[in-house]
Amino acid sequence: MMLSGWGNYPRVDCAVLRPRDTEQVTDAIGARPTLIARGAGRSYGDAALNRAATVVVTRLNRIASFDPSSGVVTCEAGTTLDELIEVFLPRGWFPWVTPGTRFVTVGGAIASDVHGKNHHLDGTFGRHVISIDLALADGSVVRCSDNENPDLFAATQGGMGLTGVILRATFRLRPVETDLVVQHTTRTQDLSQTLQALEDASEATYSVAWVDCLARGPALGRGVVYRGEHATLGDLPPDRGGRPYGTASIRSRTVPVSPPSFALNRYSMGALNAVYYRRAKTGRALVSYQTFFYPLDALLRWNRIYGRQGFVQHQCVLPLASCAEALRELLTMIAARGTGSFLAVLKLCGEEARGPLSFPFRGYTLALDFQATAGNFSLLTELDDVVAAHGGRLYLAKDARGGAGLLRDGYPRLDEFSRTRDRYDPRRRFRSVQSERLGL
Ligand SMILES: Cc1cc2nc3c(=O)[nH]c(=O)nc-3n(C[C@H](O)[C@H](O)[C@H](O)COP(=O)(O)OP(=O)(O)OC[C@H]3O[C@@H](n4cnc5c(N)ncnc54)[C@H](O)[C@@H]3O)c2cc1C
Repeated sequence: MMLSGWGNYPRVDCAVLRPRDTEQVTDAIGARPTLIARGAGRSYGDAALNRAATVVVTRLNRIASFDPSSGVVTCEAGTTLDELIEVFLPRGWFPWVTPGTRFVTVGGAIASDVHGKNHHLDGTFGRHVISIDLALADGSVVRCSDNENPDLFAATQGGMGLTGVILRATFRLRPVETDLVVQHTTRTQDLSQTLQALEDASEATYSVAWVDCLARGPALGRGVVYRGEHATLGDLPPDRGGRPYGTASIRSRTVPVSPPSFALNRYSMGALNAVYYRRAKTGRALVSYQTFFYPLDALLRWNRIYGRQGFVQHQCVLPLASCAEALRELLTMIAARGTGSFLAVLKLCGEEARGPLSFPFRGYTLALDFQATAGNFSLLTELDDVVAAHGGRLYLAKDARGGAGLLRDGYPRLDEFSRTRDRYDPRRRFRSVQSERLGL
């Protein structure tokens, strides 16, 4: 069947398998020449696509155990963060690390080693994982942790499914007192102020900036910076009547069809960015966890907004030393073209994770969406050059078109990753359209 990632680009005809248990996963590994695991398909590009066999694990979604004294949970890899939050938030637990959508699976979160708005303090999802059960290329199932198969444990975190199929994982949840977030919002006038505001917010548990990527001249890099903390019992508003977990479920709306792509042009995008910038309410507010962590989830299938040809995301991380200069170059190029996205997100990242292909390192990460057009692809190649010149890297979970050169330069521990794969999957049976494109 025709399958794609969240960006709807590229679309590839894949043989799809939907195993219900471990045995069906190992049967699939035995029967297919090559394969790749797929979770909820929320990576943007071609990482979870394989023509010969794309193994969708969302039916493996049982929660096996939970320790209420430590918050340690064991669940199958197809369990989504949404399912975990539904079960555990009313009991006072939340994922330590969550990406900007809760509709990802635990397997996908580990394989991409996802980061959230707290990377500067809490690292990636993998930092909170205790062990993983992995189905290997020879059909065997092994446990990996810091003590058992530690090389495989590291390589699987951020390994984009290329080490095997994650069957289940044991990891820690974070204790929280309520389901609300205390949010502080500030507006900045230019890039220096935006970077300073993020730097100032580095003590806050969560921080993120939205950047008006079409603002030019002195306003280049202006934005809205959000800081957040989990609200305590003392922060509860009176209308809660002391109930810590009472957020009414927020109704999600669905974008019905792909609108015509001409609706998105430099004028409509520029107007949307300007309105968003001016409308942002500054100051302190108590908001639901959905509003703070998952604003886009309120509009289900919003990816259709970009039209039938789909879209791609360009997410890079840039080292602290030259990030101001690099970001200025990137934003100047994007603003000059006027094809930038409505969504430009800037975050401060902390220490690099243990996975050799894990994405974040100390510096700033910038994420932008672009319609999948030839004109935008040539702009993206120019952006890649800036990223490479400043020693940055692209995020594989968002990538659909990057080149092998940028991968090699951006991920200096690639050889370490390849050595581990040589040991466990010498014939490279786990592969994706992305790994083939990048020569991984
Ligand atoms: C709106 C939105 C916001 C996002 N925000 C962020 C963010 O803030 N931070 C961030 O880091 N990412 C973010 N992402 C990206 C997303 O978190 C990752 O792409 C995540 O991996 C998607 O999980 P999934 O279950 O959909 O995996 P898929 O997209 O199905 O697969 C992603 C990768 O994981 C592998 N994989 C999936 N399941 C398994 C398994 N069981 N065993 C082995 N490999 C497996 C696949 O082979 C593939 O390489 C965002 C995505 C969206 C759509």
